[in-house]
Amino acid sequence: IVHAIGAKKSFGTFQALHDINLSIERSEVVCLIGPSGSGKSTLLRCINQLESLSDGALWVNGELLGFRREGNKLYELKDSEIARQRLSTGMVFQRFNLFSHKTALENLTEGPTQILKIPARTAREEALNLLERVGLANKCDAYPVELSGGQQQRVAIARALAMKPAVMLFDEPTSALDPELVGEVLAVMRNLAKTGMTMIVVTHELGFAREVANRVFFMDHGQIVETGTPSQVLVKPTQERTRDFISAVL
Ligand code: ATP
Ligand code: MG
Repeated sequence: IVHAIGAKKSFGTFQALHDINLSIERSEVVCLIGPSGSGKSTLLRCINQLESLSDGALWVNGELLGFRREGNKLYELKDSEIARQRLSTGMVFQRFNLFSHKTALENLTEGPTQILKIPARTAREEALNLLERVGLANKCDAYPVELSGGQQQRVAIARALAMKPAVMLFDEPTSALDPELVGEVLAVMRNLAKTGMTMIVVTHELGFAREVANRVFFMDHGQIVETGTPSQVLVKPTQERTRDFISAVL
């Protein structure tokens, strides 16, 4: 459902992603680990089209990102078409960037009503179901400032899900949380994985990776250095760089 061939990303002369090749199937949960600056966020941002590739190609849900094919020619997509492609992915960031002047429920209904043009009543029902799924049915009228960090992050996950993405991307979703709030967010993500959602999760929570991921990718210096099942990568890594990273994190 997510494929990359020779994906590269440069910022000026600095190459943040070198030749990324990957293939992630529907319902897979992939955890992306690696040192700071290795390109994990950049890879997610390219999959979400917050950044465009410098070279190579990415496909999400069968669509080549950023281009349209006519015959054997490729044409760059207009912004409006990129905006439509971006709906295939939902992204959750480290900082829960909710709309601060909207309630939890309004945060969830905004996108579906404004962008997907779903009738307000339907959007509201779906939003209430999602808030229930993340354990916050009783907080639907609360504003973000009235919620804990863990609750805000759960609303952020529900808000991304309200747009019915094919793939959910998480960029260190628990890193900004107080330790006692990490578990509730990971629990929501674990349940989401059980529903068959395709997920790519950048995380330092190796326990979560071990338990929930189907595969773990280790990145270093803009490359995917090692991939495998959690026990292969986290317990018996073949690459020295992976071993060094894991022993530093544990
Ligand atoms: P962290 O664990 O600290 O979040 P990361 O693996 O997510 O790190 P990225 O944020 O993807 O790393 O950054 C990879 C490299 O690309 C870094 O060296 C970073 O400085 C650089 N980089 C990222 N975004 C930009 C940008 N917009 N302009 C210039 N350089 C950038
Ligand atoms: Mg990052």
